[in-house]
Amino acid sequence: MDYLPVFMDIRGRSCLLAGGGEVALRKGTLLSRAGGRLVVVAPEVCAELRELVEARGGLIHERPFADADLDHMALVVAATSDNAVNHRISELATQRALPVNVVDQPDLCTFIVPAIVDRSPVVVAISTGGSSPVLTRQLKEKIEQTIPAAYGRLAALLGRFRSRVKSHITDFNLRTRFWERLLDGPLAGMVFAGREKEAEEYLLAELQRGAAEERTSQGEVYLVGAGPGDPDLLTLKALRLMYAADVVLYDRLVSPEILQKVRPDAEKIHVGKRRSHHPVPQEAINEQLVRLAQQGKKVLRLKGGDPFIFGRGGEEIDRLAALGIPFQVVPGITAASGCASYAGIPLTHRDHAQSVRFVTGHLKDDEVDLDWAHLAREDQTLVIYMGLVGLPNICTQLVAHGMPATMPVAIVQQGTTATQRVVIGTLDDIAARAEDESIQPPTIIIIGHVVALHRELAWFNVERDAGDA
Ligand code: SAH
Repeated sequence: MDYLPVFMDIRGRSCLLAGGGEVALRKGTLLSRAGGRLVVVAPEVCAELRELVEARGGLIHERPFADADLDHMALVVAATSDNAVNHRISELATQRALPVNVVDQPDLCTFIVPAIVDRSPVVVAISTGGSSPVLTRQLKEKIEQTIPAAYGRLAALLGRFRSRVKSHITDFNLRTRFWERLLDGPLAGMVFAGREKEAEEYLLAELQRGAAEERTSQGEVYLVGAGPGDPDLLTLKALRLMYAADVVLYDRLVSPEILQKVRPDAEKIHVGKRRSHHPVPQEAINEQLVRLAQQGKKVLRLKGGDPFIFGRGGEEIDRLAALGIPFQVVPGITAASGCASYAGIPLTHRDHAQSVRFVTGHLKDDEVDLDWAHLAREDQTLVIYMGLVGLPNICTQLVAHGMPATMPVAIVQQGTTATQRVVIGTLDDIAARAEDESIQPPTIIIIGHVVALHRELAWFNVERDAGDA
């Protein structure tokens, strides 16, 4: 972020506006809409600006800017046509640590004024940090269209009941849930249709219910797949629950970009941390889920990929089901599909692979213990999770059971993330290549003729970069 977005309270405070033309008028209008008291300094002041200042009880000094004009100001806007004056104001204001904006000269500003969608008390401020005014305008139009004008009335109504709700429902989490339920229900529709009285009655009835619920609260667990890494691969349902949860338990496969999308004030607990190479034991996680839900919390268990594919999701909900704790399971894009798509490898293909198998390459007693005879078939694709350490063993076994040593193999490291790497080889050389390239987990290994179809990797990067521009 290049700028810190803040909303500043200037009600009743003096704001210096240097300049008396069109541009100054525009800024002056904005400042006075936010309750600022205008002090205008300019050799000439246009009639409209004069009217505005007089109507709002401000001051006009019809003369050139003087250094002392900055005294007792809360904020400074320079909108003169004289570059030297604008520079001088910026320099002096900065010396005094006064927030200063020089119109259209970001390098002279300590704050910039965003584009605004005003549904007071709801205000949306939009900025592209000066990179693209056209993009800013387009975003503003989109937001203008999505937020009905009546949102202001809705927010005002909620504001009127805020302290009452706070004293009726004292538990923070329950209160948040109360507001969420209210806003998901018919209340907004009533306000938008102008039936405010009805909306207030509805709110009061719901408040009774919310207060009653506080005495018998029950938590809930969401077991949610976060996908393989790229936050754009989250499902809409995952996003919604990430915003609804009070507490989040996540493991090491959940990328920081995804974690950022969790509600900021939710408690975040890392349960995948490797303590002396041992993650938090599964039983301890199961117990923690139960304990938090029993405290009445909405608990999000966020897992890499899909919770039911090598994710031990089944074990986590077993305990919950036995204890009658409500839960939901939300599927995610599993690493196999994410990595295959982003590396340009189709997992099945009419001519090359009629089926695909997901297997774990986890070592037991230094061996990968799998049904090799069934895996060594040529007409299927094998996708191996957790297979990097066992890779030499896997390749040897497949060849020993009849797979050609020339069978193509792909390793996808940190698939779908900005740091994705792909190494391609064959059963007889892939282990050596992985070592040469210092490939690190997490990796997905794809074995089969489909690997030969992979697109040029440049294609993947070009696509992604273009998307970010
Ligand atoms: N439930 C997860 C898998 C968990 S097992 C899923 O559905 O994807 C952990 C293994 O998943 C890792 O060892 C690795 O083999 C694979 N994996 C997960 N994310 C990955 C990624 N972004 N790139 C490559 N492999 C990944």
